[in-house]
Amino acid sequence: MGLTAAGPAMAAIVPGTVDGPPRAPEPLGAASSIRKGKSMKPMPWNAATAYRRTLLRTAAALPFAVAVGGALEGTADASDAPGLPDFAPVPAAAIGPELNDSGYFVGRIGGNLHWVTDGFYQAMFLSTREGVVLVDAPPTIGHNLLRAIAEVTRANGRPAKVTHLVYSHSHADHIGASSIFGKDVVRIGHAECRRLLRRDNDPNRPAPTVTFEDRYTLHVGGERLELAYHGPNHSPDNIFIHAPEHRTLMVVDILYPGWVPFKNLAVSQDIPAWLRAQDIAMGYPWRTLVGGHLGRLGVRADGDLQRAYMADLEASTRASMNLDPTPYFEKYHPQGNSWAIFKTYLDAVAAQAAAPVVAKYTGVLAAADVFTLDNAAALVESFRIDSGLLGPFGIHP
Ligand SMILES: [Zn+2]
Repeated sequence: MGLTAAGPAMAAIVPGTVDGPPRAPEPLGAASSIRKGKSMKPMPWNAATAYRRTLLRTAAALPFAVAVGGALEGTADASDAPGLPDFAPVPAAAIGPELNDSGYFVGRIGGNLHWVTDGFYQAMFLSTREGVVLVDAPPTIGHNLLRAIAEVTRANGRPAKVTHLVYSHSHADHIGASSIFGKDVVRIGHAECRRLLRRDNDPNRPAPTVTFEDRYTLHVGGERLELAYHGPNHSPDNIFIHAPEHRTLMVVDILYPGWVPFKNLAVSQDIPAWLRAQDIAMGYPWRTLVGGHLGRLGVRADGDLQRAYMADLEASTRASMNLDPTPYFEKYHPQGNSWAIFKTYLDAVAAQAAAPVVAKYTGVLAAADVFTLDNAAALVESFRIDSGLLGPFGIHP
């Protein structure tokens, strides 16, 4: 079922870029060489930077991180991180273009529309006659957004100042660097995004001042973006950002070109609506998708492939939900441990649901063996509470 769509032509994946083919896939084992310190074979600078950045993020979450940051990094470099699992190699088709020495890649999608990635996250921007319209400000890209924009506007002679910032949704991992654009940028998002951000009161995520309910057309300096809200999905405020002239759609945390969705179906708050949002996204006439995550753009075959993965996961999960609950009740019911019954039974259902999907998609979609179990678990819960497929916890006879 469409598995041959796994390797969309690489030239189509990074339209308008001139940096040649994406870098070759590396076995994940290669990452462990970073941890063994500088005596191992040298890492590409961008990979080392990304890893260092990960360490610093980890350090930032720890008490006294500022004081011990250097020591902590040294310690982690020196350790061998025993017990970490090995995963299947990332397929070549999932990998994006090489990052530069600053740790980002900026590419032209078409006309004055560009995208930026650090391999983890993505942003998009329009370079107009009157300034830059930026969509999202992921903190991991952070100040590299300014460098990427400067790189493009130096070449095209247009102003580098970001005048408009569109929020795809309120989540900090996608707009948590929006504070670096200062006070006099026009911030645009869904009305619900504004409500959520006023609640969250995060200085790095000032609430949008221009909001809309259903549709909003943004005209700046001869360029146009069509913003649309199709109801809650991944988050209550997630919007679709369409650049019709460039046949490009940006919608975040819905489709993951080349990869399985992030854990628990992108930690989505409304799973049935998240699934519907994939169909809505495919209903737009785009050629290029900016999914907000990972290192490359999407082509339509990527959307078809994710829907095939989800259809397989749904079928497998549905079939697994009649797993015999007897052993779980027999062991934990006498102990009066209701939660143990739920946990072990639902975990077993998810494991059974995930197994054939992992087997089918490993080597086809990156990280099928990383997140499919979590994704099956999320689907099991959605089937239970949204669809009423309660299995042994249904209406008592
Ligand atoms: Zn999100």
